Amino acid sequence: MRRIDHYLSRLVEEDRLAFYEALVDFSDSEIAPKVLGWERAGQMLPDDVIAQMGNLGLFGVSVDENYGGQGGGMTELVLMGLALSYHTHSAAITPGAAVSLGTKPLDRFGSEAQKKEHLPDLAAGKRMFVFGLSEPGRGSDAANPEVVAEKVGDSWRIRGEKCWSTNAKWASHVIVHAMTNPEGRNGHRSTCFIVPMDREGVEYSEMSGKTVWKQSSTGSIGFDNVEVSEADILGELHEGFRVMITTLNGGRLFIAGLALGSLACALDIVRKYVQERVQFGKSPIVRFQRVQDVILEMDLALERNITWLMHLVAAHDAGTIEREQAAKVKIDCSRVASQLLLEAMEICGGVACLDEFGLARHHNDLFVTRVGEGSNRALMSFAVRPLVPDSASFLQ
Ligand SMILES: Cc1cc2nc3c(=O)[nH]c(=O)nc-3n(C[C@H](O)[C@H](O)[C@H](O)COP(=O)(O)OP(=O)(O)OC[C@H]3O[C@@H](n4cnc5c(N)ncnc54)[C@H](O)[C@@H]3O)c2cc1C
Repeated sequence: MRRIDHYLSRLVEEDRLAFYEALVDFSDSEIAPKVLGWERAGQMLPDDVIAQMGNLGLFGVSVDENYGGQGGGMTELVLMGLALSYHTHSAAITPGAAVSLGTKPLDRFGSEAQKKEHLPDLAAGKRMFVFGLSEPGRGSDAANPEVVAEKVGDSWRIRGEKCWSTNAKWASHVIVHAMTNPEGRNGHRSTCFIVPMDREGVEYSEMSGKTVWKQSSTGSIGFDNVEVSEADILGELHEGFRVMITTLNGGRLFIAGLALGSLACALDIVRKYVQERVQFGKSPIVRFQRVQDVILEMDLALERNITWLMHLVAAHDAGTIEREQAAKVKIDCSRVASQLLLEAMEICGGVACLDEFGLARHHNDLFVTRVGEGSNRALMSFAVRPLVPDSASFLQ
């Protein structure tokens, strides 16, 4: 039995566990046997796999049943991430970002008209929203976008560039975070707009040379005086940063789950390998105490962090999670999993650098969990309460 399944069986009630197990089966049969081939061919997730995910209801996993979704919450979303990231983050982040960064902000901040217009098709996988926060010149300093929206008569014109937009290739719309009130207080200067990808002036290109999340689409999206209307504003005028930052609380839990999916897979691979690999005589290398220590540390980290994460996921579903909690669990899961992944590779030796062994992919994918949805060190500066007075005073 996978160690992660053992822990989840203690933490999650039966019907939710059945949902998780169904996705583990899907991941084992439809992702695991094919991912190496996609990697070697430099291919993204094929359309038929994305269509299968749609048929399983994954794009509507936490959308209300009234809008055609599955009616789940953050718990289901994170369980989906844990099940699908076990073999590769790309499989998990495609529906994961579509839901946690695409449908969630609409669900939370959209008007009734916007929800009726988009949520049923989003839940069915017929549309996909991407999260347009990051820009070439604005990463951690996300409250102050260089993308600008100017009011011209009754409409708005957007210009500038977003980048690192997950799922851009498959997107129907992008949620653009744009500067609308440069003289306002920090955090109250921007507005979110729902912009169709086929609107005149919107240009997408896939970012090249990416060594992580290789089967996931990551795009740059340019806006050349793109016209949108007042009705396309998501949330309130000049309160776009609130939309983005609230969305990221859930996104960070999802990213923490991806980190643990990698750790869980690595733990199972390593446990098996060290019992087979023989050196210095006839016994396998698991007899070395130092090898066992790494496995024990991985197991401890997995149990501790999955317990913490599922606790916070429940808090998110209950509406009681705080920003600092989501940031802390993301920081810790990503850091611990990536550090231990390297140790895991080391105790397997040279074989660990082969793509077919399965650890190198997780090693690369884990890097994203350290910088994505708020780089860990930046989060330590502004999402975790300062332990030393005035340490966040630069945020004026
Ligand atoms: C594969 C991938 C997918 C992504 N998907 C999306 C997406 O769908 N939508 C989206 O909007 N963005 C996305 N991102 C962007 C991601 O959110 C940013 O990379 C992240 O916010 C960090 O921004 P940056 O890379 O510009 O780093 P910078 O802001 O340039 O920071 C560089 C480094 O400086 C340090 N640093 C910065 N600020 C501080 C501070 N205040 N205190 C201490 N140290 C600090 C940190 O170590 C940080 O890593 C994605 C990124 C990747 C790699």
